[in-house]
Amino acid sequence: MRCAVKNCKSENKPKKTTGKPPSFHSLPQNEDQRKIWLQRLDIDLNHLNTANIFICDLHFRPEDILKTRKSCKWKTFLRKGALPIEL
Ligand SMILES: [Zn+2]
Repeated sequence: MRCAVKNCKSENKPKKTTGKPPSFHSLPQNEDQRKIWLQRLDIDLNHLNTANIFICDLHFRPEDILKTRKSCKWKTFLRKGALPIEL
């Protein structure tokens, strides 16, 4: 998995800083929210089907990234209504 943002080199590999891979998030279902995401993020739409777009957690504020424990695995998800950080 790769981040869809142009110039972002994030991949599903452990980060040097934390030793853990970044989390990836798909585009929101909400049409208005999705528009803002696409405006704020430089996504290469020519190559990608929007269903296959994943954005890494580098583009969000740490307080918008939430974690939940499912059995013994941690799952990362975005706070409802979370928007990417403006570049
Ligand atoms: Zn990224």
